[in-house]
Amino acid sequence: MASTSGAGAGSGVATGRIRSQTSALYSDNQSLIREIRKAVATMKDIAVSFERDERTEMVKDLEAGVIQLLAASDECMHLSEAIQSIGDELEPGPEPTNFKRKFDEEIAKSKARSSSNAQNQPLLRQFREAIWHVHHAGQPLPGDEQEDIVMTSTQCNLLNMTCPLSGKPVTELADPVRSMDCKHIYDKKAIMQYMKSKNTRGQCPVAGCPKILKAQRVLCDPFLLIEIDEVRSMSKQNADAIEDFTTFDEED
Ligand SMILES: [Zn+2]
Repeated sequence: MASTSGAGAGSGVATGRIRSQTSALYSDNQSLIREIRKAVATMKDIAVSFERDERTEMVKDLEAGVIQLLAASDECMHLSEAIQSIGDELEPGPEPTNFKRKFDEEIAKSKARSSSNAQNQPLLRQFREAIWHVHHAGQPLPGDEQEDIVMTSTQCNLLNMTCPLSGKPVTELADPVRSMDCKHIYDKKAIMQYMKSKNTRGQCPVAGCPKILKAQRVLCDPFLLIEIDEVRSMSKQNADAIEDFTTFDEED
């Protein structure tokens, strides 16, 4: 790896600067996605109270807004993936890099990898479900009866809460990754070892999941850490609520 020219050393500095710039950009973009998702949750709560008051027009407006915001969040996700791979892979050559073209290429790749807005569908579904349940408590959403949809708890977007290999809770994994094909989550080290071992055929280790895993499709996607954080803060809120209640009880 010894560089014989000044240009070689220069490109090392440039790579370092690009990496630190991309990681700053990436984390800004991730905060934006977090904020969008918080806004969507707030809009859901507001829409529920409008629905109670029979103000259907307002509910429709809010739903349209949620759809727009989720589309924006999908765009952000593709941008995050593009930033990530540019930071990881870019090696400046003798010619100046055309960043505009590079970004366009990486965004196109990211879009090709994910099926159309599949990531955000659960949030839209939660919104519609919450509205529907205002006047139809306990009844399935229209259209669900004939469709064979396996839904997790309505509040949680994570498919499995513990790593099937290490047995650790997903919220405690230092390095979580997710399969792009079946959406199951694992401890990175454990799943990489698992995929390397010959006698597993690389089938997803979650019981009953038939997907065959491919190393390049098992990764930490831009939504994963955000969704894990949301679960973490949800369980913290629940724990705080219980704690508050206990304190109150003791004082009484
Ligand atoms: Zn799976």
